[in-house]
Amino acid sequence: MKRNSASAHSVSTGSGHGSAAIAARSSCGPGIRLGAGFGQSAPSESEQFQARIDEATKALASYPDLRNVSDKKRQQLTEFVVGNMFFVFLHEMSHALVHEMELPVLGRDEDAADAFATLTMLKVGTRLSHRVLVEASKAWFFMNERDQRQGIQPAAYDAHGLDAQRAYQIVCLMVGSDKEQFKDLADETNLPDDRQESCQDDYRRAAWSWEKVLPSRLRSTDQPRQMIEVAYWPGKGNFDIYEQTFRSIRILEIVAGHAAEAYAWPHPLGLEMAACGVSTAQWQSSNRKVFLCYELAQEFAQLYRDYGQEGHAPTKEKWLGPKWWKRANGE
Ligand SMILES: [Zn+2]
Repeated sequence: MKRNSASAHSVSTGSGHGSAAIAARSSCGPGIRLGAGFGQSAPSESEQFQARIDEATKALASYPDLRNVSDKKRQQLTEFVVGNMFFVFLHEMSHALVHEMELPVLGRDEDAADAFATLTMLKVGTRLSHRVLVEASKAWFFMNERDQRQGIQPAAYDAHGLDAQRAYQIVCLMVGSDKEQFKDLADETNLPDDRQESCQDDYRRAAWSWEKVLPSRLRSTDQPRQMIEVAYWPGKGNFDIYEQTFRSIRILEIVAGHAAEAYAWPHPLGLEMAACGVSTAQWQSSNRKVFLCYELAQEFAQLYRDYGQEGHAPTKEKWLGPKWWKRANGE
């Protein structure tokens, strides 16, 4: 990823970048439906999604590179990659919303997109949606570690926050939404006590802001759903494994279904995945498409391989052998 190394690696035009967000649950605050399409049916939809992930994980055992990997590791790898790609989709959908709905953005667009993704998953409020957030924050911590090891200096001028800051923004909003529920997460990521307190303000402000601008853009029940086309382009050999996995779990259909259900989009949209030669994702305003490259999924897989496994993890990261990780895995 430089799922954010953005515009320099754009597939075409538009505002390039990295991750995305979506979500929803019926138990939202007054008037708002962040994550609405995942709404009342969220638990069963999550269960179905999890079942497809489990099936895809089994299918991965037939690939030579994964044949000798334990079932547990293969499952964790799949959930890490899928969770991160899902977060990226939500992040990019935030850019689509801002552009198509002409929403105001106070502060950095990229921070708002990460916040939108995080809030949406928090609103869904399932074990799976929380896992998406945990995996996304872990990925940013891993990328920070990777760049440090490789001597890559962070670009202070970048449109995105630094990797560790993006990781902590997710953690902060999670802890801010429910300090008790995410206490382990706060401890394992070394989020100081005073920041755990102030994150509650971060969460309230971010949630209030999105809830302030979104209601007029929500689809009413008597409005038709906008057309959102999805496409999985060929993996061209090297990326067949990603094409087949994402096809089988129907990741595009889930995001498209939610987006069409929740929002009154003024124009048709497209959601596409493809092998495109670079590791990136972006909202392409010129043709109204959200585009994710299989190379980005590959980068997540490599990140997990190099930094996400016990014994290969930086020892200072309590994050990597954590109570939270075990709990999230139902162990
Ligand atoms: Zn972005």
